[in-house]
Amino acid sequence: MNVKVIKIGENLLAENDKIAGANAELLRHNGIASFNVMGTPGAGKTALLESLIPELNRKFPCAVIEGDIAGTFDSERLKKLGIPIVQINTAGACHLEAFMLQKGLEHLSLGGLKILFVENVGNLVCPAEFTLGIMKNIIVSSVTEGDDKPAKYPLMYKISHLCVLNKTDLLDLSTFSPEKFNAYAKEINPALEIIPVSAKTGENIDKIVTWITNAVRVV
Ligand code: MG
Ligand code: ZN
Repeated sequence: MNVKVIKIGENLLAENDKIAGANAELLRHNGIASFNVMGTPGAGKTALLESLIPELNRKFPCAVIEGDIAGTFDSERLKKLGIPIVQINTAGACHLEAFMLQKGLEHLSLGGLKILFVENVGNLVCPAEFTLGIMKNIIVSSVTEGDDKPAKYPLMYKISHLCVLNKTDLLDLSTFSPEKFNAYAKEINPALEIIPVSAKTGENIDKIVTWITNAVRVV
């Protein structure tokens, strides 16, 4: 008897890519620049959005789609900024998929928006595998994670356009080597831009604002 092999993973990813294409088209059609903010739990993804959005929103109306396994903690934090926020709870899934973003987009009025931030589920692995149809990938790393992360999670650094290295205010308290981190990351992705910041003190946040502004201008 022949054994029939069903490659579920491949089919799922093909279906995901199809929906991601539709998401990208919808965002492009509305002239919205989109950013997929990824990183480990606690890297400072929400903190980064809290410091960026007040600067950006004056010129470019922002919205956020928040991805979490459960709860609305991050949405509650961002609500203060007075921008549209949609919370997606993945019910256990450790990453966002294109169909989830598609659902989230249905709950936003896209006309007039200029920037969409998607905060992915905190995870360095599968968010890198599932394309969502978003323009730019941002990996938020932090000094407390250690300098070896690009070498251990290469796909995430390979697919990212910008690496925000957060928590530079803690550099003196740790053994983190920015030189090692940069070398590992650049070996995987020579084009990756790495900007060290402190979302807590505001150090270099202006550089991220500039990077995002430049990306918005080409949409
Ligand atoms: Mg968060
Ligand atoms: Zn996952």
